[in-house]
Amino acid sequence: MSATPTKLETLAIHGGTPVRETLLPYGRQSLDDEDIQAAVDVLKSDWLTTGPKVGEFEERFAAWVGTKHAVSFSSGTAALHASAFAAGLKSGDEAITTPMTFCATANCVLYQDATPVFADVSADTLNLDPREVSKKVSSRTKAVIAVDYAGHPADLIALRELAEQHGLVLIEDACHALGAEHLGKRVGGIADMAVFSLHPVKHLTTGEGGMVTTNDAKLTETLRRFRNHGISSEARQRQASGQWFYEMVLLGFNYRLTDIACALGISQLKKLEANLARRRAIAARYTRAFRELSAVIAPAVREGMEPAWHLYPIRLTLDALSAGRGEVFRALRAENLGVNVHYIPVHKHQYYRERFGYQGGEYPVAEDAYERLISLPMFHAMTDQDLNDVIAAVSKVVNFFSR
Ligand SMILES: *Cc1c(COP(=O)(O)O)cnc(C)c1O
Repeated sequence: MSATPTKLETLAIHGGTPVRETLLPYGRQSLDDEDIQAAVDVLKSDWLTTGPKVGEFEERFAAWVGTKHAVSFSSGTAALHASAFAAGLKSGDEAITTPMTFCATANCVLYQDATPVFADVSADTLNLDPREVSKKVSSRTKAVIAVDYAGHPADLIALRELAEQHGLVLIEDACHALGAEHLGKRVGGIADMAVFSLHPVKHLTTGEGGMVTTNDAKLTETLRRFRNHGISSEARQRQASGQWFYEMVLLGFNYRLTDIACALGISQLKKLEANLARRRAIAARYTRAFRELSAVIAPAVREGMEPAWHLYPIRLTLDALSAGRGEVFRALRAENLGVNVHYIPVHKHQYYRERFGYQGGEYPVAEDAYERLISLPMFHAMTDQDLNDVIAAVSKVVNFFSR
């Protein structure tokens, strides 16, 4: 029995009252007074960059993730570039990666003058499908770069085996997945190197920032040199003859993270556990609510995996709706939900199309998902009211367009 539509039930896009008065973003940081004070304390100290906070942050980060080493960078993208360098990627080499990611994952291969080769994703998690990866391995392949899409760990066991079998370096772009658990173990030490971003929409922020975690001492040394112009920091100690001595041993960059940022990171790290718990509670609540909506497919979680929920991407069953993704998206925006789409598959970007001649249709699973994806707001500072608003707005819009 359906009642006469009230003003509230009329979609905002059709002139009705939006579910929310103000826009709820898809992600945002939360900083408390302790975080702010930590940064201020550094501003009043002797070191603004490369002081005591850098090493302290790296040690704490490594301990939290459960790896021997962590090397900080000025961004996640810089960290990806460094890991591509440390993996030995160079002109003529190939690295296999996923199209369902932010373009930086593939761009880091291009920075090394190597070629990114995409492999399609698994339909459930939208993570690299190891069977598709194995089809793309050639004599030029040197690395695999997996992404933990939305915070769900990639198929790391299968990818590890594949990498070992073919002598490849496994890099994990874990920018979505700080705190995600793979068979009871936090991601960061399973691949040869794992890359994290400390951008404000991620789990922990330093403004801009990135980190690579690894258990390999040699890779750690290369990563440290690469972020500091290629200068060997050990040379000074080796050379007893003069304190001024240093040596540049490879072509690096200035990709250093400041002490100001690292102090913020140390402070943010203390809240990470609680923030992850909040994200998991939000995801559980969404998933329960969307069971009622047959046109909405909630993100899949595989057995033994505990995602970190950077994103909460739903997929629409378009056959069950009288509108396409674009119209549903616009209707949700009109209700003041800051929905987004993650991702336009990388090979569909103009630069990749023009440089590599992609026509579309090469990666059908990723491309089909892209047509149906909508990321809902997901960040640890969301209130219960925010959460209820999202569920109400999605239900309102999806019910309206349901056939
Ligand atoms: C955020 C992100 C990056 C880039 O990180 P920045 O810190 O913004 O440079 C790379 N890969 C993925 C999957 C990301 O989500």
